[in-house]
Amino acid sequence: MDIPRIFTISESEHRIHNPFTPEKYATLGRVLRMKPGWRILDLGSGSGEMLCTWAHEHGITGVGIDMSPLFTAQAKRRAEELNVTERVHFIHSDAAGYVADEKCDVAACIGATWIAGGVAGTLELLAQSLRPGGMLLIGEPYWRHLPETEELAQACGVTSVADFLTLPDLVASFDAQGYDVVEMVLADQEGWDRYEAAKWLTMRRWLEQNPDDEFAQDVRAELTISPKRHVTYTREYFGWGVFALIAR
Ligand code: SAH
Repeated sequence: MDIPRIFTISESEHRIHNPFTPEKYATLGRVLRMKPGWRILDLGSGSGEMLCTWAHEHGITGVGIDMSPLFTAQAKRRAEELNVTERVHFIHSDAAGYVADEKCDVAACIGATWIAGGVAGTLELLAQSLRPGGMLLIGEPYWRHLPETEELAQACGVTSVADFLTLPDLVASFDAQGYDVVEMVLADQEGWDRYEAAKWLTMRRWLEQNPDDEFAQDVRAELTISPKRHVTYTREYFGWGVFALIAR
């Protein structure tokens, strides 16, 4: 079981697989006012940076589920590095339908809401693992500017304008689903640059080391188009943020 190969090649050096920087995760960890011992479930935990650093800084415990064997292995190594292997556990698995045995204080899905068919489905899934009064964390893109045409949306790398909402509409949608938005931390264009631009050097190095790989042409095509696509579309049109929600 694995995710598409382009991600495990282009993001193999990433610690954070979204436009958040280490500083943004630190800010989020601080503003949530977590208590030592809080249990956190993280669906699509990637290379585990959020749980590992929060275990280190705030004494939380956590379980992360991710479908990438590479990212899950990196998460386990990061836990060793930060000396938090007693506190956080990473499981290589499909997180679709995953419900924790023991209820959590925080249930998160940061940049992987397709796991349950979108934001609404992910809220429903996460809520099943949450103690009453617990907090949900959703990391999700939004439109900074609505693309004027469907062609522009596709150039941004999505199938339709309707795939995402504007920030006001996204926040209103949480309200409509019965949640109070109790905190939010938004990524910025520097964060987008760190996420996207870090892929370019990784892909370039991979191509140098794997010229005869059957996948080399795809990686070459992605590296050629990616910087232009990023500066023309992604960094202009897309915002991204993590929203903390408590059921009303
Ligand atoms: N939350 C992490 C990773 C976000 S990227 C971070 O902040 O860095 C999205 C992640 O979802 C990737 O790690 C990918 O491997 C994982 N993923 C994709 N589909 C999945 C699925 N069905 N179940 C579990 N993880 C999945």
